[in-house]
Amino acid sequence: MNAPDKLPASPEPHVMKTYGRLPLALSHGRGCWLWDTHGKKYLDGLGGIAVNTLGHAHPKLVPALTDQIGKIIHSSNYYLVPLQEQLAAKLCELSGLTNVFFCSTGLEANEGALKIARKYGHDKGIDRPEIVVYEAAFHGRSIATLSATGNPKVQAGFGPLVEGFVRVPLNDSAAIEKVAATNKNVVAVFLEVIQGEGGIRPTTIEYLREVRRICDANGWLLMLDEVQCGMGRTGKWFAHQWAGIQPDVMPLAKGLGSGVPVGAIVCGPKAANVFGPGNHGTTFGGNPLAMRAGVETIRIMEEDGILENAATVGAALKAGLERELAGVQGVADIRGQGLMLGIELARPCGDILGLAAEAGLMLSVTADKVIRLVPPLILSADEAAQIVAILCPIIKTFLSQPAP
Ligand SMILES: *Cc1c(COP(=O)(O)O)cnc(C)c1O
Repeated sequence: MNAPDKLPASPEPHVMKTYGRLPLALSHGRGCWLWDTHGKKYLDGLGGIAVNTLGHAHPKLVPALTDQIGKIIHSSNYYLVPLQEQLAAKLCELSGLTNVFFCSTGLEANEGALKIARKYGHDKGIDRPEIVVYEAAFHGRSIATLSATGNPKVQAGFGPLVEGFVRVPLNDSAAIEKVAATNKNVVAVFLEVIQGEGGIRPTTIEYLREVRRICDANGWLLMLDEVQCGMGRTGKWFAHQWAGIQPDVMPLAKGLGSGVPVGAIVCGPKAANVFGPGNHGTTFGGNPLAMRAGVETIRIMEEDGILENAATVGAALKAGLERELAGVQGVADIRGQGLMLGIELARPCGDILGLAAEAGLMLSVTADKVIRLVPPLILSADEAAQIVAILCPIIKTFLSQPAP
């Protein structure tokens, strides 16, 4: 939206101004629909940024979480937490990995993964371990994870950055081969299977297999940040499963608790025993409410066939966008998998976020030019068709007007 000449007084004068927010507040939701405090209804194409896996007020999730809140919300990691073992065992079953550490957010899962990589290196006698990271990557906003992130805007003003990262371009096997040949301090490769904030940019299946091979040949950990693309979003539990490979370390968060904050570092045998007692911890991580949210999210996904839904409805949504936007000047690319889709325009399109909200559709714009759709995984085919019907005319009108 164009900035008005005089900005109205902020409706949130005491909230730190870290977000450019639309001037609306959501009061409640049901399924893939949201209502604001004025009663206006929206179709949810954003899912709280790939978080609300089961949409809003899911009829199976609400009673389960209500039951848990009535029993115990938080206990402490000083005691056994049976729901941690339950969720950990389930994540291991789904991923083929062996052990899990629970935390509360994506950056925290990634921060823990970076610590595992460094300690893995030290345990091998590498005093200055380095980690391969990627151009346009996003891993979070703590000092270490923003250092691993490949976006100067995220880093600006926060130097000195954490050292020990080697950056390479995505899907470029020669570049990582070169690192392997020349840098003996490397201990791990850290990447998103589909870059989210970077603009819905997938790694190719061939590249993932190649990186797995290079990691094995060099004794490196393969660490796949599935914070956004994991938990069923692409139509498999984890996006790397499309390539038939397994990581050594897999950070999860966003969709894992359907909106309740929960993160996890899922590890295979090479990484599972790197941390010992006292090496890592968190106060909130793994609390019974968060664990119940994870357990119930997965249970409901299995019961209701949500993976198949994400795959088929995602394919229909993509096909609908491709059909309606075919030949439209200024649409550069439509990409992604399952219900993680990006429409790249030839020019910056941040205004689309507000235009879509006005038309009753929630979405986001990332990497300046990419319209991102990461709706709840319960989206129906009819709702997907409605997204296409609302969004495509907005894009066409936007592109028909001259760039400012
Ligand atoms: C969102 C995101 C993060 C950060 O998660 P937070 O919960 O915001 O800390 C990290 N990695 C990826 C790939 C993400 O999409």
